[in-house]
Amino acid sequence: RVVEGLVCAQNWLRASPFPSIEECLEEVELLEEELEEACGTPVSRLKQVVDAMAVEMHAGLASEGGSKLKMLLTFVDKLPIGSEKGIYYALDLGGTNFRVLRVQLGGRRSGIVRQDVERKPIPEHLMTSSSEDLFDFIATSLKEFFDQENDKDSDISPAPRRELGFTFSFPVKQTSVSSGILMKWTKGFSIQDMVGNDVCEFLHQAMSRQGLDMHIAALVNDTVGTLALGHYNDEDTVAAVIIGTGTNACYFERADAIIKSQGFPTSSGGMVVNMEWGNFWSSHLPRTSYDIELDAESPNPNDQGFEKMISGMYLGEIVRRVILRMSKESDVFGPISSNLCKAFILRTPLMSTMHEDESPELEVVARILDEVLGISDVPLKVRKLVVNICDVVTRRAARLAAAGIVGILKKIGRDGSGAVASSRAKGPSSSNRLRRTVVAVEGGLYSNYRMFREYLNDAVAEILGEELAPYVILKDRLSISWPLFLKLNIL
Ligand code: BGC
Ligand code: MG
Repeated sequence: RVVEGLVCAQNWLRASPFPSIEECLEEVELLEEELEEACGTPVSRLKQVVDAMAVEMHAGLASEGGSKLKMLLTFVDKLPIGSEKGIYYALDLGGTNFRVLRVQLGGRRSGIVRQDVERKPIPEHLMTSSSEDLFDFIATSLKEFFDQENDKDSDISPAPRRELGFTFSFPVKQTSVSSGILMKWTKGFSIQDMVGNDVCEFLHQAMSRQGLDMHIAALVNDTVGTLALGHYNDEDTVAAVIIGTGTNACYFERADAIIKSQGFPTSSGGMVVNMEWGNFWSSHLPRTSYDIELDAESPNPNDQGFEKMISGMYLGEIVRRVILRMSKESDVFGPISSNLCKAFILRTPLMSTMHEDESPELEVVARILDEVLGISDVPLKVRKLVVNICDVVTRRAARLAAAGIVGILKKIGRDGSGAVASSRAKGPSSSNRLRRTVVAVEGGLYSNYRMFREYLNDAVAEILGEELAPYVILKDRLSISWPLFLKLNIL
């Protein structure tokens, strides 16, 4: 009580002599303008990012360590085309959820006949505990899944030796299509004994501890799984992008363009390259003091710079940092609440809910500010300020991701460079004509955050221009929005 009284008195003193809300807003106007300006992404700037992306892609393909873009080989040289048949199993370990999946493919006509999915959030403590704990959790879940399955379908019991695809959404240096070494963690994971070791070994050992006899047929990044599924549905799919907790892209590259793997035989003349674009960096990126501080205080400073401006793990946190600074430098948000000082307390889904609040008085914004950040009694004008902060941060993120996508199209010659002019000159039947180009996009941020998706789609069209834009199609929600691993006809 006494303490409460003192706190009240202190806030009372601090708040007097009661500046009006207009005066408070004036105090932050400058910060708001600064933010808008620093996050600005005019199309001229986006085009610089497009060029930088294409240049870094070249550099990363030329030599190991040639760029911050790792451009990792995947050993996946063919993509499924829809005629595959059979039962496949997959595991997906990524940002927030863990999934086990069984899918039955029926061939050309029938496509996906049946799929069973089990999905669990990854308990947070496992993200930073030991490899054994994490993989025991995975193997136990897998075992539960099979036990249920055996109960349901007695016809497949005793179970035959199952083939498993493992989608593992972190940077892995593949040693073959079914083995690879974890290079580093991202997205808040940090289990040090795993870095530098073969991911499949850990899975294998954990499965043995559960008495599971399975063969790991492939280890793929989630972008690669998404490209496989995109291509399964639509053969014009050339690239896949994930925008969820983390962000990344992969695409199909010609073998002769992958200079660092010279002499590597591929049956199709190309290979999927996992760009790990989350680590992309360029001086053209519109960086703010909030980004710099977020990076410095993260477990992986100087890493994943693009990801930290774009993906779901970070957008809410950037917004929190802006509000905190405004709260420190003005009275708009009243006294600084202790929750506002907690890193990552404002999750991106809540940020999107505030951003998309359509109630006339922005009641949802008020409620989230109150319940999550401990900021109460916020007048309408301040609620609008918060919506604008969300807008600025999301718009920048979405537009940068769009520039990244066009960067890939540029690298593979699908950005229309030269083609627009020549198709006009020679007519649509010329070999250089514009081609339908599909990019598969997955991830919660893109699928669930409407404003983000609209900004991204609009920016892609804006960068490409009227003539080319209709040829580039972004496809999401590919199946049950799951980056499915399919039979990959591997090397
Ligand atoms: C990882 C990528 C992954 C992406 C999306 C990033 O943090 O480095 O490997 O594809 O997140 O899940
Ligand atoms: Mg995922």
